[in-house]
Amino acid sequence: MFDGNSDIAQVAFDTTLEGIIIADSDAKIVMTNKAIEKIFGYKAAELLGKDLHMFVPKTLRALHLEHYKMYAKDPNYLSFDNAREIIGMHKDGRQLPLELKLSQFSYKNKDYAQAIITDITKRKAKETENTIAKTILEKKVKDYTAELEKVVKQLRQTNQDLEIEIKKKIVAKQKARKALIAERELGQLKTKFLSLASHEFRTPLSGILTSAILIGKYIPEEKENVTKHLKVIKSMVNHLSNILDDFLSLDRIESGQIHYKFSKFGFNKLMEKIMKETSSLMKKGQHINYIPCTICPKLYQDKRIVHIILSNIIFNAIKYSPEDSPIDIAVKTGETIVITVTDKGIGIPKNEQKDIFSRFYRASNATHLQGTGIGLNIVKANVEGLGGTIVFKSTLNEGTTFTVRLPKNVDI
Ligand code: ADP
Repeated sequence: MFDGNSDIAQVAFDTTLEGIIIADSDAKIVMTNKAIEKIFGYKAAELLGKDLHMFVPKTLRALHLEHYKMYAKDPNYLSFDNAREIIGMHKDGRQLPLELKLSQFSYKNKDYAQAIITDITKRKAKETENTIAKTILEKKVKDYTAELEKVVKQLRQTNQDLEIEIKKKIVAKQKARKALIAERELGQLKTKFLSLASHEFRTPLSGILTSAILIGKYIPEEKENVTKHLKVIKSMVNHLSNILDDFLSLDRIESGQIHYKFSKFGFNKLMEKIMKETSSLMKKGQHINYIPCTICPKLYQDKRIVHIILSNIIFNAIKYSPEDSPIDIAVKTGETIVITVTDKGIGIPKNEQKDIFSRFYRASNATHLQGTGIGLNIVKANVEGLGGTIVFKSTLNEGTTFTVRLPKNVDI
């Protein structure tokens, strides 16, 4: 047995916090300190002279034996400066995680091994806890990363879809713009052509009219048939001239060349003239209900343009309503002068009402009647040019009311 010769050395040995075991070269325990009792649950007396293997779990004993044999042959074999982690066995059979530092020494010609042992159960538990937490965290990070990648992929896809959609829209917009430009150019071309043609037609037409008037003067009055036909020629030529005027004013409106000429005139007088002109166009049994306004003031407006506006609307009312039907014209004055023309005619289909003021537009129920589709376009441009408004209400097969509102004194 190892005989320590110093009390201090014994106290220090016993109070060292690490467990200390000293064994001889046959692996017999020769000395242990108090900490060993605490770690392994044995009393010192139970350990003395026992085989070191009692601290080794059964499954590891063969390996331990191998090591110890090597150690017996070469004492340096198991010496190491750095601590190693090993598994030990408690008296009650529990396995203990331990940290071991091993050294050897000789005393009185005998070799001894000294093992310094620390119970690292708590540290290991903490490490396991940390490892579990780390694993959970890693899994979470992995899951979040996967989720994030999925979202990024979706976003990238959505982005690509959006880019495709935007490209499509840009192409569609460009196409629409090109179509619009082409349409506008075509419209301008049409207008230019009409205006050119109208200029050319005007001279021969006025020649026809003059000749018809002259023929009328030379033919004796009893030639009733001739007079009747001359009347037809005159009215047709006038009608054609009106159409040509419309064509010409289209060009003027488009190029912004309308110059209004304002003057003072009596509204009732103008209406009388219009009624006279339109009466020759009325169908059998059609009649206009118009009571001239009694306190109609004088207007300061462009008389010729107001004439064109009202005769166009009244002529449409006659054209688009049947024989024996009434046309009501009402006039109201206040700040402005408001003229309404109501017929009981074919009406305008609801879905086409938005287009009715567009140039050359004719409603689908009107194509069997003569027309050019430019009258209302000119009317609207002129009404607005004079500072007024034009609106209408229409029911298919029941009738239409156009309302024109004009300032009485233009201040343009
Ligand atoms: P046009 O009469 O020469 O066709 P307008 O520009 O005067 O041309 O009128 C455009 C279209 O509006 C007409 O073709 C017709 O379809 C519709 N319209 C105008 N006035 C009336 C009305 N009083 N009743 C029914 N439809 C009308």
